[in-house]
Amino acid sequence: MDTHCPYCALQCGTRLAQERGAVLVQPTDFPVNRGGLCQKGWTAPSLLEVPDRLRRPLVRRGGELVPVSWEAALDTVASGLDRVRRERGPDSVGVFGGGGLTNEKAYLLGKFARLALGTSQIDYNGRFCMSSAAAAGTAAFGLDRGLPFPVTDLGGADVVLLAGANPAETMPPLMQHLRSPDLIVVDPRRTATAERAALHLQPLPGTDLALALGLLHIAVVDGHVDGDFVRERTDGFDAAWRRAMSWWPERVERVTGVPATDQREAVRMLAGAGSAYVLTGRGAEQHSTGVDVVSGFINLALALGLPGRRGRGYGCLTGQGNGQGGREHGQKADQLPGYRMITDQSAREHVAGIWGVPPEVLPGPGRSAYELLDALGTDDGPSALLVFGSNPVVSAPRAEHVVDRLRSLNLLVVADFVPSETSELADVVLPVTQWAEEEGTMTNLEGRVLRRRRLRPAPGHARSDLEVLHGIATRLGEPGHRYPTRPREVFDELRRASAGGKADYAGISYERLDAGEALHWPCPDVRHPGTPRLFLDGFAHPGGRAQFAAVEHRDAGEQPTELFPLTATTGRVLAHYQSGAQTRRVAELNDASPAAFVEVHPDTASRAGLAHGVLARVTSARGSAIAEVRVVPTMRTDTVFLPFHFPGDGRANLLTGDALDPRSKMPEFKASAVRIEPHRDV
Ligand code: SF4
Repeated sequence: MDTHCPYCALQCGTRLAQERGAVLVQPTDFPVNRGGLCQKGWTAPSLLEVPDRLRRPLVRRGGELVPVSWEAALDTVASGLDRVRRERGPDSVGVFGGGGLTNEKAYLLGKFARLALGTSQIDYNGRFCMSSAAAAGTAAFGLDRGLPFPVTDLGGADVVLLAGANPAETMPPLMQHLRSPDLIVVDPRRTATAERAALHLQPLPGTDLALALGLLHIAVVDGHVDGDFVRERTDGFDAAWRRAMSWWPERVERVTGVPATDQREAVRMLAGAGSAYVLTGRGAEQHSTGVDVVSGFINLALALGLPGRRGRGYGCLTGQGNGQGGREHGQKADQLPGYRMITDQSAREHVAGIWGVPPEVLPGPGRSAYELLDALGTDDGPSALLVFGSNPVVSAPRAEHVVDRLRSLNLLVVADFVPSETSELADVVLPVTQWAEEEGTMTNLEGRVLRRRRLRPAPGHARSDLEVLHGIATRLGEPGHRYPTRPREVFDELRRASAGGKADYAGISYERLDAGEALHWPCPDVRHPGTPRLFLDGFAHPGGRAQFAAVEHRDAGEQPTELFPLTATTGRVLAHYQSGAQTRRVAELNDASPAAFVEVHPDTASRAGLAHGVLARVTSARGSAIAEVRVVPTMRTDTVFLPFHFPGDGRANLLTGDALDPRSKMPEFKASAVRIEPHRDV
């Protein structure tokens, strides 16, 4: 049975079979992976067999989570929600979704929040993932789709600049498409991807925008700007150039640490290539300046005439499995299905019409993900929270504060298929199905819609998230037909709700997908072939012109001080996915990467009295994380790195703060001021 990997946004094609009860996986020739898988994909069947799989609903009684029937669990949830709403109004209930949910779940979750709960307080963990690139892409091109071209186009490139992306670890099969291009990697760490690069630019974390401005400066001064493209297809170049004017290479070198010669070489390589791409990842995006950083790299791409042309382009490498679809169907605080703004009256009328309610019933925009978590249990914040497919105790910034907020709730409900650090705090835990136990669709990083297929039933009493939403909604007095439980039925409604929107799925059906059609949105009708390449005939702004952004470098939300002299940056490792709640339960992956670690330059380690393999305490103004020291000679002396997948006192997010990008509301994950010292167990 053909399906796709349960983890990242590449959504590698896999074929599953059952042999004597065991599930076997093989990669397929799907274009993004062409027969390749990473270790997460190869071990995905183990995820179906984890020993502590959630099988029964649990309700907290006398301080303990105890198994109960579904009827009892759903009654507890509904009566708790009802009580909170009657006492404090509909916005007293919050909903926190996930970028790994199928399109059908993300859609129904948004509808459930706006109609059954009547709350504006819904957002999801994708806010922590790609929201900066989404905001910058929308501003520049009028439309945000991670890659506006198929992954396979990268194979024909001469040069690719990767800003803050490490696909050699995070999505290894992508690297087969990056074999022939010369790679320019922008990353404070010498990552596995940087090892393969022709040129590695290693800026201090938080100075990416100064670097992007500097690269634009060189492009202009050295005569590499594509004047015809800028004139004919863009607006705003002059204002963007005025901001970049003062970022000459030597100044950029002083701020970022990237040698001026390397800056010039990067621009020369990009401008001299017949086919070149600029791609951003979380390293560029997860900043309190993330939108401007991405805009800085888009400005560079526009100046060189890359976007909207065959064999060239700008794109964002989305991270979570349904990072693309997850942001299109209405689980985001400010959006309705079809990637429509919730403040747009015509969008409200269209979606309300599909849902069979007057538009004034729909609430307005709510809080963004961190703002929602921060408001929990406060006078004007939610006092009940439903979490679907997310583990904010590990993945949210300022993690211990988030734990305090979650503990202050009157009701915390978590729907997941494995226990997580968040479900441990819950009042009710609802066991749900996972990838090979359910039907549905995902949308990968190229905007291609994919079928997820059911190989076998869920174990125990697990139910699909769609059934859970139906069960809660009907107990709250909603008509059952509003919350279909069959994925195909939900998808068909999603198609109608998205019709005419930016992410238009109207022409994409299960039948077409099952017939093997490669359908990238927008696909407005059933005869439409889909749109693998966007912007070739014009950008999505009225008038069809892309927009430069006049951006200026700002310092990271937090600068090093005497007390906290180093900068900590966070990221991912090959063996783990997101908060690690799934991959830490797979023996092979856990063996490959069993515990929190911190990468430190030898000089920094020696100054701090640390040796390879000992435990260190890394401390920021928020708290401390304990991690094993890895002495890495290629680290910058002013920077340490911690992966964010680990629980307990190894959580990297114990260090991160609450500075948010003013537009995307992306937290500052990539630059926290810290000190490091030996860990003394007391
Ligand atoms: Fe799965 Fe991503 Fe690895 Fe592919 S690259 S096998 S989609 S985790």
